[in-house]
Amino acid sequence: MTDKQKCKWCGEYFIKTHHSQKYCSDYCRKNARAEQSRNKAHRWYHRHKHELSEKTRWGLGSGYLGKHRYTNFDKELKTIQTEFKRLRLKKIK
Ligand SMILES: [Zn+2]
Repeated sequence: MTDKQKCKWCGEYFIKTHHSQKYCSDYCRKNARAEQSRNKAHRWYHRHKHELSEKTRWGLGSGYLGKHRYTNFDKELKTIQTEFKRLRLKKIK
């Protein structure tokens, strides 16, 4: 067994200075850890999204609907339909 190891982040070979070293540098280690926690957060979100409240899911103020409705009915209908599509809700007829 050699002490040469392939970096798990950048793929470069490096000489191990520690028995459980997986990355060639601090830079690679930090990037890998950042990605790990990003993936973890992503997985968590997909596992728990159905438990989240509407507000958390869409973010506060993320809707395109204004505070007041349009007096023009056609414009109002179009806005609502666009919003429905954006949120992937059931079609309104
Ligand atoms: Zn590396």
